Amino acid sequence: MQFDELDELYQEIILDHYRNPRNRGRLPQPDIHAEGNNPFCGDEVVLDAILDAEGRIQDVGFEGRGCSISLSSASILTDLLRGKTLHQAEALATLFRDLLHGKELSDEDRKKLGDLEVLEGVRNYPIRIKCALLAWLALQEGLEEHRARK
Ligand code: ZN
Repeated sequence: MQFDELDELYQEIILDHYRNPRNRGRLPQPDIHAEGNNPFCGDEVVLDAILDAEGRIQDVGFEGRGCSISLSSASILTDLLRGKTLHQAEALATLFRDLLHGKELSDEDRKKLGDLEVLEGVRNYPIRIKCALLAWLALQEGLEEHRARK
């Protein structure tokens, strides 16, 4: 990643999530479990989520290794998902994919993305889009499996 081409503040947030990942660790008996890997970069991520009685995401954790983009994206994901419904989680994944694929988002949608916005610059580096989306694609697969089990 050519960091000098990304906004400096954004770099700081990305590196902070990379160095101090939020919600790191596996969860026992997760309702949702997902794994993803990105052969282009060697990134690997494992996600676990536990739902509360109302079906909201109560707790979420991740383990991973790889580049700063993939791991900061996974760390931000875990922060964002807590307290969300599965529908909201799915919508966030779609919004983030839209952002990276160059779609114009409304201010309201941008607000929903929170810290994820710092990864917007990645869209200028197509090979890195896979890194940024890794955890989110894994999440979507995990949500599908969860729905299929019901
Ligand atoms: Zn990567």
